[in-house]
Amino acid sequence: LNYQTARFLTSAPTLAGCPPDEGAEVAFAGRSNAGKSSAINALTHQRALARISKTPGRTQLINFFTLENASERRLVDLPGYGYAKVPESVKLEWQRHLSDYLQRRDSLRGLVLVMDVRHPLTEFDQTLLGWADDKGMPVHILLTKADKLKSGAAKSALQQVRSRLREWDDLVSIQLFSALKKQGVEEAHARLNQWLLG
Ligand code: GDP
Repeated sequence: LNYQTARFLTSAPTLAGCPPDEGAEVAFAGRSNAGKSSAINALTHQRALARISKTPGRTQLINFFTLENASERRLVDLPGYGYAKVPESVKLEWQRHLSDYLQRRDSLRGLVLVMDVRHPLTEFDQTLLGWADDKGMPVHILLTKADKLKSGAAKSALQQVRSRLREWDDLVSIQLFSALKKQGVEEAHARLNQWLLG
């Protein structure tokens, strides 16, 4: 698939507003500031498809992008979670929308979970992994900002996350990534291709 063809399709505040549940899509999730927008931009070779640096507390939307000018294959940018400044009630509401989307979206083929390589597996990352596991949904983890660590330290971070998730070996794959250095783009494309073309 040519990821450079990604174009904005629509935004939805809740599952009810999502485009028709047809074809295949891959969704990106991650804690705010983990580097999710930068990863989407790197994977689609675009500078500003997903917005970098969002306003905390702004209404968060599920954003849909089409690939290759057709709506049957999509990338989905899920709202970032974990903003300290957002009131607890808003956090809970967003968790409910995320959970709804993950549990009920039939066209969802896989979840890309973006984590800062220096702060992997936050509490809500683990909650999401649990939801994915409940549904038998495959997850690909991007340990991003790998450029912030020396290569040995990045590799050992990767090994540590792998060993912590060993019990989910059949559903979870993990790689190092850097949007800054464009590291890991081909490996991630290969996984997305499996899901979107498979
Ligand atoms: P999001 O909130 O998860 O969408 O995170 P952003 O993509 O907006 O990135 C948060 C911050 O991390 C920004 O200042 C980015 O420039 C920076 N960042 C994102 N990815 C990388 C990366 O691979 N390497 C480095 N060094 N910085 C990154």
